[in-house]
Amino acid sequence: MPDFDPRLYQPARQLLAGRVILVTGAGSGIGAAAARAFAAHGATLILLGRTTRKLEAVHDEILAAGGPQPAIAVIDLARAQGPAYFDLAAQLRANYGRLDGLLHNAAILGERTPIEHNDVGAWQQVLHVNLTAAFVLTRELMPLLRASADASVIFTSSGVGRRGRAYWGAYAVSKFGIEGLAQVLADETRDATRIRFNCINPGGTRTAMRRSAYPAELPEARPEPAAIMAPYLYLMGPDSTGVTGQSIDCQ
Ligand code: NDP
Repeated sequence: MPDFDPRLYQPARQLLAGRVILVTGAGSGIGAAAARAFAAHGATLILLGRTTRKLEAVHDEILAAGGPQPAIAVIDLARAQGPAYFDLAAQLRANYGRLDGLLHNAAILGERTPIEHNDVGAWQQVLHVNLTAAFVLTRELMPLLRASADASVIFTSSGVGRRGRAYWGAYAVSKFGIEGLAQVLADETRDATRIRFNCINPGGTRTAMRRSAYPAELPEARPEPAAIMAPYLYLMGPDSTGVTGQSIDCQ
């Protein structure tokens, strides 16, 4: 399908029916919109994040909209150690037996400053939350992804993860790392499994992170997260089976 544009994708109403999908950073911003969109198309969601009340609000919105019963996993990706990941995998195995979708969405912006002024601790925290945590979560959940008949893993990239830009420091480097992680995983699994690994670049979107990166910008200048969901649904559902190692723009 050479002319196919994922931004114009029109998902079937029950596109994700019966699928079990975990979204990180599901309590706000793009992650919350993706969780709502996946649930609205029939998926059972595991909402992972660090702030219980935000996850509970998304949980309640999904139920109020008539979506399947979601689950909540309160995990701070900056601090989580092995046991938190083992417990999560064990609970998913016990409750669902498999995982059909994983959206790595949680991230932090970190310091917007020249590299020569970057604090080492702040650098490490951004690399940890944005990149290392995605690696660890993927590794721990691989057996459950392998248990799915058609699993999709989506990593969240950025324009500054494809071309470096001044003052984006650790955030930009973490997003280059995410693109690399997705490519390596795609290459390692291309022939042997039914799991696909792709990246999405949301583009400038009206969220707390965007406000913090561009405080002078009018919020209306950027689309709401709900308006950029077509590529997320495309990559998460069966219409993208066989698509792997790609990096897709939402805008
Ligand atoms: P937000 O800052 O609005 O939301 C980020 C989410 O990640 C929040 O739910 C936050 O939880 C969660 N999170 C942050 N740190 C942790 C942690 N330590 N443990 C668990 N969860 C955590 O960002 P966006 O929605 O804007 O961004 C979503 C993704 O899209 C990110 O990967 C971002 O890099 C990417 N992106 C965004 C763009 C934009 O213009 N908005 C442009 C390009 C890429 P909490 O609310 O509890 O803090």
